[in-house]
Parts: sequence; C-alpha cells; structure tokens
Amino acid sequence: MTARKKWWEKKPVRFECQPDCFKCCAKPGIVYFEPAAIEKSAKFLKTSPEQFRSEFLKWDDGHWVHDVEKGKPCAFLIPTGCAIQQSKPLQCRAYPFWHENMNSESMWRFVGAFCPGIGIGPAVPMVTIRKFLNKFKL
Ligand code: SF4
Ligand code: SF4
Repeated sequence: MTARKKWWEKKPVRFECQPDCFKCCAKPGIVYFEPAAIEKSAKFLKTSPEQFRSEFLKWDDGHWVHDVEKGKPCAFLIPTGCAIQQSKPLQCRAYPFWHENMNSESMWRFVGAFCPGIGIGPAVPMVTIRKFLNKFKL
C-alpha cells in the first residue's frame, strides 16, 4: 500500500525569504538550540559552549532553548539580520517548513498571513521540504 501524498507533494509550494524582514526573529516564542548549534555558535562568538549556554540559553524539558519575549526580539537579531547566521539552529534554518506549519494547506496559508515570503518566489523542491521536516521535528 502506498502512503497518501501530503498536500505539499501535490502542488508547488512557493517561498522566498524577504530581505530585511526578520519578523520571525522577533516573534515571541522559543528557539531550540541543538548541541551542534551551541558548539558552532560558541565557536563563532569566540566563547565556550558553557558560557554561551549560561548567557543565552536555559534548560527546558530536555532541551536548551533561547526565550524570545514579547516586545524583545531574539538576542541574536542585529540590524543586518542574524548575528549567528552561519551557526543558527536547525529550527531557524527550517522555518517556515516546520511540521506544525506544513500539516495542512490551511495552516500553511495561515502562517502566510504572518510570513511575507510564503506564497511567492520559486517553488521549493519537495526534497528540500522533506529534508527540513526530517531534520527539525519538534
Ligand atoms: S517572516 Fe518569513 S520572510 Fe520574514 S524573515 Fe522570516 S522567513 Fe523570511
Ligand atoms: S537565532 Fe538568528 S535566525 Fe534564529 S531567531 Fe534568532 S536571530 Fe533569528
């Protein structure tokens, strides 16, 4: 028996991150930092993983996370974008292709009301979407 196709496997899904937008970096919520992102970010900022964790992260339900509070963007957001672009966590790399956003086409459209990159630009290859969904599972 073949698995039923997901909605995004049946039609083109367009997305192009918009320059100077950064809305998703200012949205209140939690940024999960997987161990590799902690290691790489600490190295990039010329500090130790321990120092990076103690300065920017907290331990929450089995994960290291950075809190983004209402009215205060992510601590790594600078005027030109993400200060740790090269080492940013999987969660940020995968956005907006998160399971919760891709579960249904209506949810994707709902997220599109927030993220101006959704619905425009080139069609994103299915293999890329699948890769993000497989890598970032929270
Ligand atoms: S909200 Fe969308 S378009 Fe804006 S920076 Fe985030 S991913 Fe890019
Ligand atoms: S780590 Fe970088 S990409 Fe992720 S939310 Fe913060 S500023 Fe945005």
